[in-house]
Amino acid sequence: SAVDPVPQSEAELAFEGALRPKSLTDFVGQAGVRKQLEVLLKAAAMQNRTPDHILLAGPPGLGKTTLAMIVAEESGRPLRMSSGPAIQHAGDLAAVLSSLTPGEILFIDEIHRMARSAEEMLYLAMEDFRIDIMVGKGAGATSIPLDLAPFTLVGATTRSGLLPNPLRDRFGFTANLEFYAVDELERVLLRAATLLGLDVRPPALREIASRSRGTPRIANRLLRRVRDWALVHDGTADHAAVQAALELYDVDESGLDRLDRAVLDAIMDRFDGGPVGLSTLAASVGEEQDTIASVVEPFLVRMGLVSRTPRGRVATSAAWRRAGKRPPVAGAP
Ligand code: ADP
Repeated sequence: SAVDPVPQSEAELAFEGALRPKSLTDFVGQAGVRKQLEVLLKAAAMQNRTPDHILLAGPPGLGKTTLAMIVAEESGRPLRMSSGPAIQHAGDLAAVLSSLTPGEILFIDEIHRMARSAEEMLYLAMEDFRIDIMVGKGAGATSIPLDLAPFTLVGATTRSGLLPNPLRDRFGFTANLEFYAVDELERVLLRAATLLGLDVRPPALREIASRSRGTPRIANRLLRRVRDWALVHDGTADHAAVQAALELYDVDESGLDRLDRAVLDAIMDRFDGGPVGLSTLAASVGEEQDTIASVVEPFLVRMGLVSRTPRGRVATSAAWRRAGKRPPVAGAP
């Protein structure tokens, strides 16, 4: 969909690639993280060593892959890209690790989805730049130690809570990426419009920014939908075009999309406002638990519409007000 936080097609990936900032200076927002990374990279360069391992945590589309590329770019090191789902066995990881060149940056996206056996291999690799490779089976099995070239691991995760502590502890630095403010997304959009040579009026950019779920990827994508709308209707990409285009793609004034609203409605209408557990909620809207937990929930929490309690997710009074509904009275039939 127009607001799907994960890229869907080759065209989409190419589009994202073209808009990716290449330096920390061009990276909009996340000021704290940017300064912290700058110091980390500078110190490593001064001592001529590989930078510490870096964990990037946060919802999809906030710039984790972009930052990994910037780390490689700014430190002048080659980048190897892999992902958790591609590492099904310890052997898959051994193959990647043993082929790294000295000082290489290894990016593992969705690192929480890596196989357990690989996680354990990664602990040793991160700490001592060494792995043990098991050869043979049963009584004759032996482990052969293998020295690795020093490398920097950049891990990205949308669910840092799912990472085992020993893995989390081995990162020298963790950056928790936050949703972007509207004026930051405006800057992202201005940059994209300029790069793409689009004539979009400032009030229109602001309107797109405020409806982008705090997410640069969604902002860039909505910009294209508005551009298309203006093209087809032979008009300018102005404020009215934004409103018409976003209505067409079912994005509401605060940027909630269809799934966000489905989850909110389910909590209020089917579970009396909660608390409701993640798996029950996911089943009731027909979505993956992971999508609800990593994409929908963080934004609804950030908007103050849902709160998390030990017993489950609860609709806040703001959510009831927004829906123009009354919460059930405790004790009523
Ligand atoms: P993630 O890896 O967290 O899912 P990406 O790094 O792939 O997100 O970013 C998605 C898109 O959003 C990229 O095309 C990038 O151009 C844009 N983007 C993300 N963060 C920023 C930022 N801080 N400034 C400018 N553009 C950004």
